[in-house]
Amino acid sequence: MKIHDYESHPRLAELLTPPDKLAALLAGTGCFVLDMDGTIYLGGTLFPFAKDFLAAAATAGKRYIWFTNNSSRAPEDYLERLAGFGIPTSRRDFLMSTDVALDWLGRERAGETAWVVGTPQLHAAFAGAGIVSDDPRADYVVLGFDTTLTYAKLVVACDLLRAGRPLYLVNMDYNCPVEGGFIPDAGSMAALIERSTGVTGPSFGKPTRTCLDYILKQTGCREADLTFIGDRLYTDIAIARGTRAHSILVLTGEATVDDCLTTDAAPDAIVRSLADLIPLLEERS
Ligand SMILES: [Mg+2]
Repeated sequence: MKIHDYESHPRLAELLTPPDKLAALLAGTGCFVLDMDGTIYLGGTLFPFAKDFLAAAATAGKRYIWFTNNSSRAPEDYLERLAGFGIPTSRRDFLMSTDVALDWLGRERAGETAWVVGTPQLHAAFAGAGIVSDDPRADYVVLGFDTTLTYAKLVVACDLLRAGRPLYLVNMDYNCPVEGGFIPDAGSMAALIERSTGVTGPSFGKPTRTCLDYILKQTGCREADLTFIGDRLYTDIAIARGTRAHSILVLTGEATVDDCLTTDAAPDAIVRSLADLIPLLEERS
């Protein structure tokens, strides 16, 4: 169950972070911000080491929360999935790009209506926040990871953008890793819209500063306490760049060894998978 075979790459060894450096990074971490797809599971399958990592983190006195950029699902879907894996999680410890978007739009675009290109779950989240999400004459356009995308929705969105309304991306990921490969995500749909209208807009999930600020506010953590762990360089890792937060890249999802050799995202550490962190956490407990 791997997207790519990092184990047999001839340059893997030079990439992996030495244990002493990893141990120092873990020692300074108060709270892990864990990605989901490609980090603890792939598609519907939990990685075999995921629960041992969580147990080791807890025993070492580390807090962890979840943050996913995937705006196609509802938080309840994720909490159910985690519970189904035997990982009971409270809503307080589960955050997603949609939360950041609703928090920001609720403050900065208060009282306005949206045309949301998104799944029924994303529409339900807007309804829950008291924001009209299906107004074809809306004040702004929101684009999420819409696995129910239709041409009709795109036409309305592009008309609104051409009429000068702003665009907001809930998340900017180009692809979502799934078992067997990738499916196009919101960033790819945004590229289509930009090609048609010339309009693009800010996003709310990882790697944005808005997202980091939201996580700090929700957790009460200091920036330097946070270590992001994820499989994608331009979101999970890039969010910590230029901040006091830290990042650890795992190779169980999107990023390949070759990506790591050429990136400027500069993770603080690179490991094969969460499994590499378990013995170091156990040493500390
Ligand atoms: Mg991921």
